Amino acid sequence: MKKLLPTSTAGSLPKPSWLAEPEKLWSPWKLQGQELVDGKQDALRVSLQEQLHAGIDIVSDGEQTRQHFVTTFIEHLDGVDFEQRETVRIRDRYDASVPSVVGAVSRPKSVFVDDARFLRQQTSQPIKWALPGPMTMIDTLYDGHYRSREKLAWEFAKILNQEARELEAAGVDIIQFDEPAFNVFFDEVNDWGVATLERAIEGLKCETAVHICYGYGIQANTDWKKTLGSEWRQYEEAFPKLQKSTIDMISLECHNSHVPMELIELVRGKKVMVGAIDVASNTIETPEEVASTLRKALEFVDADKLYPCTNCGMAPLSREVARGKLQALSAGAAIVRGEL
Ligand SMILES: [Zn+2]
Repeated sequence: MKKLLPTSTAGSLPKPSWLAEPEKLWSPWKLQGQELVDGKQDALRVSLQEQLHAGIDIVSDGEQTRQHFVTTFIEHLDGVDFEQRETVRIRDRYDASVPSVVGAVSRPKSVFVDDARFLRQQTSQPIKWALPGPMTMIDTLYDGHYRSREKLAWEFAKILNQEARELEAAGVDIIQFDEPAFNVFFDEVNDWGVATLERAIEGLKCETAVHICYGYGIQANTDWKKTLGSEWRQYEEAFPKLQKSTIDMISLECHNSHVPMELIELVRGKKVMVGAIDVASNTIETPEEVASTLRKALEFVDADKLYPCTNCGMAPLSREVARGKLQALSAGAAIVRGEL
């Protein structure tokens, strides 16, 4: 993009209440059959218009066609049984009943490619598409087949690469992999996490991004954050490896977090999506607060590599709050753009 400080969101945005119950994760669909297909497309149109209206430069589908950023992708794969559930610890934080890997995993057909093609038809703005990352995918499953987190991650990386190549062909400009697990399993990130991510982006000509955050504003995450102390230095563990990796952009949680901004120096040379909107609070940031976060980040990222963004997805927020936050992000970026 030629425009300095192009804005975008980390991914999900609230769904309309006629499609799914609002302010809830894994909210069940309210429609069925063809009505659901049409309803998802209408929601995607609305979500896109809200982003454009708020002045967001790099737009997305707002994840309107998926129930959850990890589960929906896995639901489309062979080898995973959603009836056979086991309780596991997610990101070392909370217990959840999850599906089981019961055989070799594969992708019988595209998951999001039709949705991406539909979004491409609706706008000429650059579009970003989010997929779960390999390490975050394995962390939401019980694996009774490979019995190896690493092996399963490599299998998922191959599958993600197939999907990513088709998304690129459908006209997606930036493909983003969500890897909140990178903030938890440091040894694995360095042993094979970044390598599997590079496998997922192999051969892509479009831009690629990894989103690493402290999670949605749900209770389990908020409680976990309270145990992290006054300085969150988790990014320090993965950044040196990511700096040397083939990934183009890194999406981070910065506003209202306890992440020391100077850690961004460790990925110097990469494009950085700086989270300047807190998704764990209903308080709408002022444009000046957004600008202040961006100015701090500018000490460690060159202006042409800074992408103002949200800390994480906004699916669990009300539409009104999310709309206000999008506008604040645009207005805050405009202030700093004017200073450059
Ligand atoms: Zn996130």
